[in-house]
Amino acid sequence: MLERVPLLEKELDHYSAVVGDDVIAAIREAAESLRGARVLHVSATAYGGGVAELLATHVPLLRSVGIESEWQVLHGSDEFFAITKQVHNALQGADIEWTPAMQRTYLERILDNALLLEDGWDFVVVHDPQPAALLHFLRDNPGFSSGRTRWIWRCHIDLTVANPTVWEFFRPFVELHDASVWTMAEFVPASLKMNHVEHLPPCIDPLSVKNLDLALPFCIELTRQYGIDTKRPIICQISRYDPWKDPVGVIDAFRLVREQVPDAQLILAGSMATDDPEGFRVWEETEAARAGDKDIHLLSNLHQVGSVQINAFQRIATVMVQKSLREGFGLTVSEALWKGRPVVGGRAGGIKLQIRDGQSGFLVDSVEDCARRIIDLLADPVGAEAMGSEGREHVRSQFLSTRELLDWLELLGSLR
Ligand code: UDP
Repeated sequence: MLERVPLLEKELDHYSAVVGDDVIAAIREAAESLRGARVLHVSATAYGGGVAELLATHVPLLRSVGIESEWQVLHGSDEFFAITKQVHNALQGADIEWTPAMQRTYLERILDNALLLEDGWDFVVVHDPQPAALLHFLRDNPGFSSGRTRWIWRCHIDLTVANPTVWEFFRPFVELHDASVWTMAEFVPASLKMNHVEHLPPCIDPLSVKNLDLALPFCIELTRQYGIDTKRPIICQISRYDPWKDPVGVIDAFRLVREQVPDAQLILAGSMATDDPEGFRVWEETEAARAGDKDIHLLSNLHQVGSVQINAFQRIATVMVQKSLREGFGLTVSEALWKGRPVVGGRAGGIKLQIRDGQSGFLVDSVEDCARRIIDLLADPVGAEAMGSEGREHVRSQFLSTRELLDWLELLGSLR
């Protein structure tokens, strides 16, 4: 068996206070025909990054509507994850060398995992490129054949400028699936030959520890413990240490902001994911860019920054930033908007779905733009609050777990 991820319990009815009874009733109705179905989600890691965040809520919610659901993760190795991180970068447009040795290591590891997978599922949902070749090794196995099990590939990344060599390697594996699900229509490569292609953006869980309401004094105390002065302006980006999240660009923008707002502080908080060996290198680059500046707070899970602290930072920040250069969705944007904070975000991928430019924050294309918009928001606290409130309502209607659950139930129902 693959490694099973332990999960909290979630009760659908508890969400009615946030989204209303009608939404809950629609979900229950959509779940009726799937009652008793068995659904397996497979991803690369149980910790760090948006996929882990999503599945920690989605799978318990499936269970709460009578669907037998599991989340399992691949058995990897440092070498395997170094390769899949390069694949991830290449599919987002980086130029890498995709050698036969890398391909062999990737496929051997996936074969090992395929042999460990238990059968008997009605649906298997495969997340991102790491496990994408599993079905290749299982399609002739009667326990997984397409009559027995429906396979869905969920792509969370932006393939608009994917490296063609790497994408052509993965494309045949992806096309074996019965359907694929994408965050945005513009991410789907024209070369993909599949009849069933869906576009469903991800979501955040308003009842998770990361997003639950927290009292302001509690947020102040948690933030203060990191040496941050909550009476001065706080700019904050929450992200893995990944070049596409541009932490060094955020520092550059912050330095421009400080020319106008000398008492501003910056928090950069990012976890180190187990499938992301690049994280430590980017951390070091970011630390070098910080150059010992006491008003730039570089934090990670190694400093005990967990969900509660992130929740507090997102509530206490004067302005949230997500200056990604490339982004699948960027859950951190919805997390911040849900807390009523305005967000300055890179004009990339799913960030464009979440920030309505000039209404719930600003979309920016450069360090200078980013600095200018942060300064605008710091200079206009009333306007900034209004933008945050607008953002919260946009998230309520589009990007909460209940909307995603309903979309998935409808998709699974249509594949039965
Ligand atoms: N996150 C976290 N701790 C950190 C940094 C990020 O828990 O130190 C969370 C963040 O709050 C969000 C997720 O990881 O829920 C990141 O998802 P996103 O879609 O923004 O980016 P990804 O990492 O998937 O590219």
